[in-house]
Amino acid sequence: MSKMQLDIVTPEKIVYSEQVDMVITRAANGDIGILPHHAPLVSPLQITSVRVQKDGQEEQIAISGGFIEVRPDKVTILAQGAELPGEIDVERAEKAKERAEERIARSEGDIARAERALKRAINRLEVVKKSPKR
Ligand code: ATP
Repeated sequence: MSKMQLDIVTPEKIVYSEQVDMVITRAANGDIGILPHHAPLVSPLQITSVRVQKDGQEEQIAISGGFIEVRPDKVTILAQGAELPGEIDVERAEKAKERAEERIARSEGDIARAERALKRAINRLEVVKKSPKR
């Protein structure tokens, strides 16, 4: 089966760079599944997971928003932040979730910002939950 290159990069580092079979993620207009030879596309990405299928295995990566560029042989994700399941500190995400929930409950400060922080924390926790334990 033909493969495509998937690169996930943040301003800090290259998080993922592999030949993969399929990429599924949530773009601006909804979920997209990308196979090799997909039509070219550029879209903003939400705070979401990227599901990567490779050699019959699926891996999830947490993305804190960014952009996806699809070319027939290559998918590039430029993310504000991205973590592999093994890199996610669950306790830190749980604390961030609690902090954000408290700020929202008390209508304290910048609520839109607190809501984004809550989404990032929930997204990280979901990615860990859906990933096989190592
Ligand atoms: P926190 O309030 O815990 O810092 P945050 O959502 O505000 O969370 P970001 O601004 O999205 O954090 O990320 C800052 C840096 O910290 C990024 O490099 C990101 O990958 C990393 N990071 C944030 N939360 C976690 C986590 N739970 N586990 C591992 N890395 C994390």
